[in-house]
Amino acid sequence: MPRPGLRPRSAAPVVETVCPIATVFGKQTKVRPTKKRPAVKHVPIRYDLQEIALETVKAEIKEEASRSDKGEWQDVWTSIEAYRKRVEAPVDTCGCAVLGRKEFGDKVYRFETLVSLILSAQTPDLKLAPTMRLLQSHTPEGMTPNALLAMDPELIKSCLATIGMQNQKTKSLLATSRVLHERYDGDIPPTWEELLALPGVGPKIAALTMSIAWNKDVAIAVDTHVHRISNRLGWVRTKNPEATRQSLERWLPKEYWGPINPLLVGFGQTLCRAQKPGCAECPAAMLCPKIGTKKAQH
Ligand code: SF4
Repeated sequence: MPRPGLRPRSAAPVVETVCPIATVFGKQTKVRPTKKRPAVKHVPIRYDLQEIALETVKAEIKEEASRSDKGEWQDVWTSIEAYRKRVEAPVDTCGCAVLGRKEFGDKVYRFETLVSLILSAQTPDLKLAPTMRLLQSHTPEGMTPNALLAMDPELIKSCLATIGMQNQKTKSLLATSRVLHERYDGDIPPTWEELLALPGVGPKIAALTMSIAWNKDVAIAVDTHVHRISNRLGWVRTKNPEATRQSLERWLPKEYWGPINPLLVGFGQTLCRAQKPGCAECPAAMLCPKIGTKKAQH
């Protein structure tokens, strides 16, 4: 008999509900309806049972795998957090969150935070901090879009010489300064979407700017560390940082969206490194599936 709830399909292979031949003790015998029963007109119903079963199993496996990968994420988080409290990382002392100068007021602090984030692309924190300090030394009253626009572009480039991509970064800084001066009265915009529209600003920079400068965690800032470690831990299965951001945002509770970046960036700088992660000393080793870490020191 057909199982209730299954939708009839027209494609083969088929199972027919009416089978005029039955197998009895190994012999095929014709089944004849008794004369007393009224004849019932049976309509053959066809199901693609194999396909339905396969799709169901696939969905169950996928769901189960994703549940078990992330099942103990809070324990992992707690152990990494404890490690980070003990071990200082470059992001704690030289990262963009500490480079803006608060003594010149909120507007300057927000703009300097955005500038340091634009300069941080492809740049380690240890190189970024001296570059930012050098640029700040040319704006002793506080850095503003107007102050940068008033500077000689060659001077800006020379300040950025040690971090590389100085031509492109100088262009981005000046283009962004122009927009902020013309449209935002020298301040930075207060939304993720508006920040994303600025030259040189991508999803990571926009998310970090919102978090550091406006104290609002509206998106997860995923850099190379967050992307790599989230995949190693099995929290996501993604190919690039943007996919990681979207995947994390689907299940990570919102109160963790801000803290995850400094937590994993510092962890990646000191222990869960890109090359030869220190799994032997890792407090999360027992819970970590170490996905893709063939060369790890287990
Ligand atoms: S066990 Fe290894 S791969 Fe996993 S989080 Fe720790 S250092 Fe990274």
